[in-house]
Amino acid sequence: MTDIEYAPAPETVPVEIAARYGLFIDGHFVAPRSGKYRVTTNPATEQPLTEVAEANAKDVDLAVASARKALKPWMKLSASARAQFLFRIARRIQERSRELAVLETLDSGKPIKESRDDDLPLVAQHFFHHAGWCDKLAYAFPGAKLEPVGVCGQVIPWNFPLLMLAWKIAPALACGNTVVLKPAETTPLTALRLAEIFDECGLPPGVVNIITGGPEAGKALIAHDGLDKVAFTGSTEVGKAIAATLAGTGRKLTLELGGKSPHIIFADAAIDQAIEGVVSGIWFNQGEVCCAGSRLFVEERILHTFIERLKARMQTLRVGDPMDKNTDVGAINSKEQLERIQHFIKLGAAEGATQFECGGALPTKGYFCRPCLFTNVQPSHTIAREEIFGPVLSVMSFRTPEEAIQRANNTNYGLSAGVWTEKGAKALEMAARLKAGVIWLNTFNRFDPSAPFGGYRESGFGREGGRQGLRAYLKVDGR
Ligand code: NAD
Repeated sequence: MTDIEYAPAPETVPVEIAARYGLFIDGHFVAPRSGKYRVTTNPATEQPLTEVAEANAKDVDLAVASARKALKPWMKLSASARAQFLFRIARRIQERSRELAVLETLDSGKPIKESRDDDLPLVAQHFFHHAGWCDKLAYAFPGAKLEPVGVCGQVIPWNFPLLMLAWKIAPALACGNTVVLKPAETTPLTALRLAEIFDECGLPPGVVNIITGGPEAGKALIAHDGLDKVAFTGSTEVGKAIAATLAGTGRKLTLELGGKSPHIIFADAAIDQAIEGVVSGIWFNQGEVCCAGSRLFVEERILHTFIERLKARMQTLRVGDPMDKNTDVGAINSKEQLERIQHFIKLGAAEGATQFECGGALPTKGYFCRPCLFTNVQPSHTIAREEIFGPVLSVMSFRTPEEAIQRANNTNYGLSAGVWTEKGAKALEMAARLKAGVIWLNTFNRFDPSAPFGGYRESGFGREGGRQGLRAYLKVDGR
């Protein structure tokens, strides 16, 4: 929070939350065979919201069997009938978007203006976009014989719970597959609400099953031999373990993993816009963004001015109640994640970098972290190498485009990169030589369902979105 006066503006849409949620299997909410439930908490207040079933291997068996049973009839449905289901789901998401946004913010800690104005419109767009593909797949792969892959096991993280669900479920259904999806243990509520929407839209039972639980449920799902494909979004460490589990099984796999993305500012850039790009690049969603621009490279001759202006802009960021429509930076998703971020911040200072954080008091309850930046960062520093997944920016400089490319590519990751310059030839040269799956020019963190998203190296493989994203959910000429 800042010294700037503003009146609190809490979101007022009421949202019903049941006292307990079961697993969504075969079109019904059922009690888990495990008999176990896990409390999910509002990270901004530390208050429990409700309790949610913890799936075990037996529950996973039932969900996979249901998806298998639903596969043939779903595959045989005409493409236009499949499209109708997806259009219906997209429209219902739009109709219930205020409620879904509130639930997402309560469960995740992200600011309501981001869940309402960024996430939910994109979630609906993903279903609309893929609804449009259902009867046009032959145009995406001309002349090829196309078949759905089959039963897909999908595991997603907590930073964009509904959006990651949409990225996974919409293309899978469009291509004629059935699904068992596991949301993250700290953010299960919107996936369960979407299960209600699937039911309202008449989606046949078993086409989508939602099982909740933690890493054990995730492990049981991805290792299940009833699956034809696994899609995982999450940390690189878990992604590597999943790749090892699936090696030699013949099952298809796509991995969307971590990142440590470079954000490069040339002296000839439009500086006011670049400052806004950096702010959204690292402080959007509390920095809990896989493609966050967490390594900032500024051309040396504007470094001082740029940093001073960035610091002044940081002071206007409002950190606090995520349910307040004026809040820019909400709560960190969990106590564990806050502690992880604080560990990196301490390490940054201990290794010799200089910390600057935005001022103002933080709420006394909840998991909050002030946006901060570090100057005097060396490429060898831990904060310049490891994914922090929080509102922490490492600032470095460069003198020539060659040096910028070399420094930017000096990472094990390769998810995204951003370049700010007014010179077209320079922008194209940078885009060609930066090793990242997504490269933004004069913008950052901009997403569109028609644009493929995915990584290189330790950021994973496979693409989500666009024509390329369909490939993961289709057998093309038998492969
Ligand atoms: P995580 O890997 O700990 O957990 C992700 C999901 O996997 C959760 O649902 C979790 O329950 C489950 N899980 C945990 N261990 C498992 C195991 N051994 N087997 C199967 N499932 C398991 O990651 P996180 O902390 O929830 O999310 C943050 C990470 O996700 C960051 O590294 C971030 O960069 C990455 N991410 C990547 C993208 C992308 O598109 N590339 C998008 C969002 C987040």
